[in-house]
Amino acid sequence: MPCACDSAPRALADNLPAIARMATKKPFPYWLDGTESCELCTHPHAIGTERRCAACDRAACEHCVTVDRDTGEILCHECLKEEEAG
Ligand SMILES: [Zn+2]
Ligand SMILES: [Zn+2]
Repeated sequence: MPCACDSAPRALADNLPAIARMATKKPFPYWLDGTESCELCTHPHAIGTERRCAACDRAACEHCVTVDRDTGEILCHECLKEEEAG
């Protein structure tokens, strides 16, 4: 019988479970599969549901844009702030 210590894998893998747990991303709901990230809040959203800001052309999620009720213009919250300020 060969000694068991010789065939044991080197102890490198000892911290792997902890690292893997840290690296595990919180799973997103299935409908967010294949996502892009909102450029403002970095939240993922399903491809095709993003809104483009008319001013800066950024792709943002629907939570980060405001649609002007009169013109239908889409502005991200940052551009909206600037518009209101100026
Ligand atoms: Zn914008
Ligand atoms: Zn967003």
